[in-house]
Amino acid sequence: MVTSPGYVLATDIGTTGTKTILCGLDGTVIRKALIEYPLHAPTPDTAEQDPDEIWQAVLKTTWQVIQQSGVAPPQILCWSFSAAMHSVIGMDRSGQRLTRSITWADNRSAAWADWIKREYGLDIYRRTGTPIHPMSPLVKLVWLRHEQPDLFRQVDKWISIKEYVFYQLFQQYVIDHSMASATGLLNLVQLNWDPIVLEIAGIQPDRLSTLVPTTHILQSMSGKWAEVMGIPPDLPVVIGATDGVLSNLGLGAIQPGVVATTIGTSGAVRAVVAHPVTDPQARLFCYALTENHWVVGGAVNNGGIALRWVRDQLADAEVLTAKQLGIDPYDILMRMAETIPVGSEGLIFHPYLLGERSPLWDANARGSFFGLTLNHTKAHLVRAALEGILFNLRMVLQALQDFTQPSIRIQATGGFARAALWRQMMADIFHQEITIPEQHESSCLGAAILGLYALNAIDSIERVTEMIGETHRHQPIAANAAVYEQIFPVYVKVLEAIRCQYGLMADLRTQLGERSK
Ligand code: ADP
Repeated sequence: MVTSPGYVLATDIGTTGTKTILCGLDGTVIRKALIEYPLHAPTPDTAEQDPDEIWQAVLKTTWQVIQQSGVAPPQILCWSFSAAMHSVIGMDRSGQRLTRSITWADNRSAAWADWIKREYGLDIYRRTGTPIHPMSPLVKLVWLRHEQPDLFRQVDKWISIKEYVFYQLFQQYVIDHSMASATGLLNLVQLNWDPIVLEIAGIQPDRLSTLVPTTHILQSMSGKWAEVMGIPPDLPVVIGATDGVLSNLGLGAIQPGVVATTIGTSGAVRAVVAHPVTDPQARLFCYALTENHWVVGGAVNNGGIALRWVRDQLADAEVLTAKQLGIDPYDILMRMAETIPVGSEGLIFHPYLLGERSPLWDANARGSFFGLTLNHTKAHLVRAALEGILFNLRMVLQALQDFTQPSIRIQATGGFARAALWRQMMADIFHQEITIPEQHESSCLGAAILGLYALNAIDSIERVTEMIGETHRHQPIAANAAVYEQIFPVYVKVLEAIRCQYGLMADLRTQLGERSK
């Protein structure tokens, strides 16, 4: 561990807000600041943000941590960046923006994702590692090319929110391999803008930024902005990577066999491999962290939100009781689930309430309870929901293990980790040891560590494991794991049997004139 004095600034440009931390060289966070901003959603499919609002948040959060920390600016070794993936901003020739930041959540290009899949099959995914989905900048460019041709012609550069911030700081268009690997435009093997994909997007490479490694350092930022933030203009600025891959780093899930799992509102399973890989069945993404560290994984829509649905739709009385007792309604749901045997007495929940990304990549997927009898109670529904969310994530974990070595440990995070029952269930269903790292700002911390590595202040990013504590650890309980080993194949078989009918249901909903989402 590094013990010499000094500090690192790290900023994470997220979708709900921008966070900046100042940490010591051992990873201890000295100060942090967060500024949130809204998503502009004038239609249900639109999800845009104001890039200038975000740029202001970068300036202000940085200024705040510098002011409040009392640390002398010369003691700061570098400033490193994390950012949300998949955003698109169109800039004109004079460096003025022509669009807002179109975020990953924007769904307006959905029909063009289907078109690319029909026309090109899995080829584009295999070249780039980015799933063909409306979140992908490639798909957004194809949509804009065809549906907003005037705007498309006027745009001189297509950039992400991180490039926008770097353009303000340095008047240069640069993009790191990590952000680029999430655009759907980067060739994973060559690490260049893929000519075949660019042709589909209808652009030349000069419409995109210069590619640099995630450890690339820029210096001599605009003096005006350095003064506003109270930092030296020659502070080394490390370009960094995306929030997803840096979160793996910040959680200490970086060595072979260590898998990061999150169940928040949505969910994800991710592991680091030494070379880029893609999945012949296109269930997984592959994004760069460094040239020797690639994050493979899958993001699921149906994480904790499926439990929230159970709480809101099935547990009115419990929510009321919780309010009267002044406790969290989820605690009551957990107590109910605890009274039900492992496996919910033959009840299986497929949690696809929001359609699904990984492992199904099917927007028409829908939720179901399978195996209901008169004997099942509300408590069974709750337990089956907790189990079903985990079975779905186990499918992603299994897909991942086709490409990584068998997992030896799971580092788990997200709101689910507040419940001991759900944590133990993860250990039992995944049949793995689960650790809950003591982490608060994993993407920021990941950026800080990458910054130190870029400066040669640490010899390897694996040093992170010395900086991360843990709050809980669970071993699988053999008897429970044995029951889940029997149920999981049934979960998968039932899913295989019904998933071919999700399209039929989508057609029916359209005929019935119902909203399909
Ligand atoms: P986000 O991903 O939006 O940041 P969180 O990580 O806080 O959100 O996760 C929210 C989810 O965590 C909820 O939808 C719920 O499923 C779960 N959750 C929240 N509180 C609890 C709790 N006390 N016990 C179990 N699960 C919880």
